Amino acid sequence: MVLTSATEAVNSGLQYLPAPNHQLTSPNQFLLPLTATVNAQDHLEVGGCDVSDLVQRFGSPLYVLDEETLRSACRQYRQSFERYYPGDSLVIYASKAWNCLAVCAIVASEGLGIDVVSGGELYTALQAGVPAEKTYLHGNNKSVEELQFAVESGCTIVVDNWYELETLTQITANLPAPVRIMLRLTPGIECHTHEYIRTGHLDSKFGFDPDQLEQVFAFVAKQPTLECIGLHAHIGSQIFELQPHEDLAGVMVGWLSQAAEYGLPVQELDIGGGLGIRYTEADDPPSIEEWVRIVCEGVVQACEQQQVPLPRLIAEPGRSLIGSACITAYTVGSQKVIPNLRTYVTVDGGMSDNPRPITYQSVYRAVLASQMSAEMTETVTIAGKHCESGDIIIKDAQLPPTKPGDTVVVLATGAYNYSMASNYNRLARPAAVLVQAGEANIILQRESYRDLVRQDRLPERLVEKG
Ligand SMILES: *Cc1c(COP(=O)(O)O)cnc(C)c1O
Repeated sequence: MVLTSATEAVNSGLQYLPAPNHQLTSPNQFLLPLTATVNAQDHLEVGGCDVSDLVQRFGSPLYVLDEETLRSACRQYRQSFERYYPGDSLVIYASKAWNCLAVCAIVASEGLGIDVVSGGELYTALQAGVPAEKTYLHGNNKSVEELQFAVESGCTIVVDNWYELETLTQITANLPAPVRIMLRLTPGIECHTHEYIRTGHLDSKFGFDPDQLEQVFAFVAKQPTLECIGLHAHIGSQIFELQPHEDLAGVMVGWLSQAAEYGLPVQELDIGGGLGIRYTEADDPPSIEEWVRIVCEGVVQACEQQQVPLPRLIAEPGRSLIGSACITAYTVGSQKVIPNLRTYVTVDGGMSDNPRPITYQSVYRAVLASQMSAEMTETVTIAGKHCESGDIIIKDAQLPPTKPGDTVVVLATGAYNYSMASNYNRLARPAAVLVQAGEANIILQRESYRDLVRQDRLPERLVEKG
């Protein structure tokens, strides 16, 4: 399918830009943030800010995060749970998608909790003011220090394996009050129709094997310092099907009734995250509301069938909360034309600010921010500047003709971009700005050369004596 122009795509049903009624649009179904428009200069505008201007002001590359899109996704999750689940519920943001102070603070201000997978993410969430009661620590190999930090902070610990269960029993031995834990279990749900990043199948490094359920429950029931309040499972990421989540609900409610037999005070069921987003026109994920409805109906139905009281239902979306809320603006530099073969358009970032293409062969779309209505007549490969042939951001991208200095914007970069960013080739990590109603605030400072050597140490004997 050949796009004519980014602006025209609005009207062609390709959903490059969302419909104007933000309340009704599920951000994960759009390529651009909800506030994206094309202004009178034919420039892309997000959050009321001209993206080309933002690059002038804050430099390049630049992550541009749209606050309204993020807040809207948070609200759609919360409101859908209120609509479709008769019991208590909590949405927690899987912050590994993008963990920083501002994002944690926004999400928490919408009433969501936060899931963290390391001491560093936990520290950031707490620094952002997220209440410990709404913070959940995951991970399949938490260190003793991380576990101690979690215990001190008062967050809930999602226990993944026997080693951790035993370590936690030792750490908490002399505590006056029990520590809240959940158990992560592998549901053994295979998804045949999609090749996504799976975590729910039996051959996964995460969680207790379901065969061990009885043993684990019996062990935990005997530990006075561990209060098992819930069960957790997460089946994978970038999922477009609804069936696996419906199946998961049934499996997990079965576990609930088993846990009750051991007298465990289990009231929470955490169904994980995984809803996909639209990265290209070909992607067609369900809306946030549809996903929540299926999950809720699945749990309610299973509880009726298995005669289990409704648990407090928790979901932990990451990608679908933040993925579509951000774009990355790059500046075009060199071009290499190989006649009859390929044209490389190189930008000033690459695998260090977006490692997903080289890691998962992820596909993205791009627009030329300064000429949104220009015809996309060129097929080019947008390359990064790293010393690695695989450092390609988009292969065969449709763009209008570009020249050095142009701002090319890669879409839907909110999830697993900044959070997976590196300093490969000693590139400084880009800045991120939060945009809202024409205002732009720095939420992540651009790194400087000084930052790059901050942790370097030069032993005295290596210092050249002149
Ligand atoms: C990554 C992860 C999530 C979020 O997955 P998304 O696909 O980003 O929604 C939720 N729960 C756990 C335990 C995870 O590891």
